[in-house]
Amino acid sequence: MAYRAPEIEIPKVDIWSAIFDRASKPFPDSQIIYQNPDTGRHYTFSYLRETTISFGRGLRRKWAWKKNDVLALFAQNCIDTPAITWGVHWAGGIVSPANPAYTVRELVHHLKDSGARALFTQKNLLPVAMKAAEEAGIKKECVILIGDEEERGLGYWRELLVGSEEEGKEGKEVINAEKDLAFLVYSSGTTGLPKGVMLSHYNVVSDMYMVHSSESTFLHWKDDSLLSVLPYYHIYGLQCLVHFPAFFGLKSIVMTSFDLNKFCQIIQDHKITYTYVAPPVVLHLAKSPVVEKYDLRSLRMITSGAAPLSKELIFKVHERLGTEVKQAYGLSETSPVTHMQKKWNLGLGSNGPPLPNLVVKFMSPEGVEVPLGKEGELWIKGPSTFLGYHNNEAATKSSMTPDGFFKTGDIGYEDKDGNMWITDRVKELIKYKGFQVAPAELEGVLAGCELVDDVAVIGVQDEEMHTEVPMACVVPKQGVERDQEAKRRIVEWVHERVAGHKRLRGGVEWVEEVPKSASGKILRRVLKEKFKGYKLVK
Ligand code: AMP
Repeated sequence: MAYRAPEIEIPKVDIWSAIFDRASKPFPDSQIIYQNPDTGRHYTFSYLRETTISFGRGLRRKWAWKKNDVLALFAQNCIDTPAITWGVHWAGGIVSPANPAYTVRELVHHLKDSGARALFTQKNLLPVAMKAAEEAGIKKECVILIGDEEERGLGYWRELLVGSEEEGKEGKEVINAEKDLAFLVYSSGTTGLPKGVMLSHYNVVSDMYMVHSSESTFLHWKDDSLLSVLPYYHIYGLQCLVHFPAFFGLKSIVMTSFDLNKFCQIIQDHKITYTYVAPPVVLHLAKSPVVEKYDLRSLRMITSGAAPLSKELIFKVHERLGTEVKQAYGLSETSPVTHMQKKWNLGLGSNGPPLPNLVVKFMSPEGVEVPLGKEGELWIKGPSTFLGYHNNEAATKSSMTPDGFFKTGDIGYEDKDGNMWITDRVKELIKYKGFQVAPAELEGVLAGCELVDDVAVIGVQDEEMHTEVPMACVVPKQGVERDQEAKRRIVEWVHERVAGHKRLRGGVEWVEEVPKSASGKILRRVLKEKFKGYKLVK
């Protein structure tokens, strides 16, 4: 039997109520929750609450916002995002965050698939946002700016706010926490193209309480402050850096995007004690000479997730900075965190034990539970497990069992102390520095390239950067010279059409054929085996 943490009580309420109507909130309303390090602009807890209500009310009155209307957020991290998110929820809507690095093609897919009614964005993203909105049929009046920069001729989100004098006349939308959606986040899941992951209010509230039960043993609103650098659009940033600060009462300093000098400067200036990151940030802290220029002594702990982290880097950071690095594991489909180390040196190198209220098991390819300590596919069941993929019954069915277990597509095992170790992945997904790359999507893009007859994309390891990178195994069209120039053109073809993290950093290799099953499914395992230990050409 796998380890189970003692159950905790989780209220069946919507996110807004869990944060703003909490009976025993331990911190004062005047606590600063989000702060912009450049301008000093900030939200206190009470201002945040007030803004969510006036925004939600504005959406309803000025836009006749209806329950389940979808608002897409295409923005870099911004202190306005939480107020907008919970304003949408207050009015019964659903938020669908999109990667600000998206190209027009990618954003159009996101907008159409999510059925977004409005697109909230920032001035620097307008060239992509305007084109995508037009193609997806979103009216110009529904493209709205957030953040500190406005633009003539375009709406600004604060214009939607309605005054507090009306307070009390109309209330928050009635929400069924278990059934109504709070977010549509995008993930390719175990196979295929990015899909909308349907997260209910209760899914997200559950994960908030479950993580709180683990993190509250060492985090306190009076003593701790967070650095927010993970992207808010990804479920990891959304949960740990949008929701947690407001739930824990932690002051968070919000970075627009990652820059190592700035990251260190903020830690030094704001005496940051804690941050959630992905492994590439830990790599910088372990190895970059830049780190020496700053006083980072306040940073006592880091949690790393979204991709595997080596013990070597954990030790290096501890040796260099004295900072404790612990690991966590999760997925978009589990809202996201399911496993978390309680202390960095308890089960070092593992992802720690499962959070409370979760049932986990490890399964053989034949669908039989393996004994404790043996490797198998990780299956998870619990209140934070998503409701299914948006408009995709087939993908939902194949990823969930009839009794409610979600098949993660990750291979791992649990040790005798209840700590979970990830050892492999059976799903197609490639993770470049914690960002998702769906091979099927790149194969679709490559299918349009005139040099390519057939193609399969797999992940190969970049040892130096401690990450997987996508590599294309290409059968060239007849007559195409199998030379470096043709490879360069194929890499360029992808480069021009996808967000930065999906580029073919693993390059191109020529193959005679793409191995396929009788039903035409690409046999990626065969290619992964063939290119095991592949040396990247840089
Ligand atoms: P996402 O839905 O983008 O959060 O991606 C989830 C996937 O990221 C998981 O299925 C894993 O393959 C991978 N992942 C997340 N956290 C970890 C971790 N701590 N160690 C190894 N892989 C991880």
